[in-house]
Amino acid sequence: MDEHGRLSRRRFIGAVGAAAGGSLVGAELLTGTALGAGARRPATPNAALAALMEGNRRYRRNEWERRDYSPVGERRASSQKPFAAVLACADSRVSPSLVFDVERGNVFSVQVAGNGVDPGALGSLEYAVAVLRVPLVMVLGHSDCGAVRSAIDVVAGRTSFPPSTFGAIGAVVDTVVPAIESVPAGERTIDRCVATNANVQAQALARTGPILSTAVAAGRLRVVGAVYEIASGRVRLA
Ligand SMILES: [Zn+2]
Repeated sequence: MDEHGRLSRRRFIGAVGAAAGGSLVGAELLTGTALGAGARRPATPNAALAALMEGNRRYRRNEWERRDYSPVGERRASSQKPFAAVLACADSRVSPSLVFDVERGNVFSVQVAGNGVDPGALGSLEYAVAVLRVPLVMVLGHSDCGAVRSAIDVVAGRTSFPPSTFGAIGAVVDTVVPAIESVPAGERTIDRCVATNANVQAQALARTGPILSTAVAAGRLRVVGAVYEIASGRVRLA
């Protein structure tokens, strides 16, 4: 939070409480009970996945609590202890912290168009696992993904992205192409390809050494593919 935000935070919370008309949401913001009360940081892969999915249920029911699983609380300005890492698309409609209803500092978020694994994404996730010790990596595809749509068109020969015109856009699309090619030619619908891409990227990450594959083999890490349905807000495993 910047200095202005810090100075005005109390006034902002008061305004939210007043606007909420004394509702539960306003009361929780005023007292801070929504952030951290009984919310132990999930320490195992399955507990982390359950926390994400429960947060998504709150999001869909419009019962946001901005749940805080971070043990650092107000000290997060100098450290972070996220309980999960998410590799999501850069699409402006996709916001992991929002759809999983968690406070800042809880989810280590990597966003790149098509949620494909490039060196930047891989290195970031390796840092999250090796240094921040996250027990879960989720590859989160989403409905109506333009990068996946482009990869479908590339594989079908309908379009191409030569670097002389499209810069590095083709390289981003290329991270999705192998996933599309793994789907039978007559079945390459956008929904099928989005789900397959999430799973293919997740499986590739789980096999990648030395950090991720070792953590998976030791049972310290689970890597899952999932899809965010924009219209409903629902996240489901792919
Ligand atoms: Zn996308």
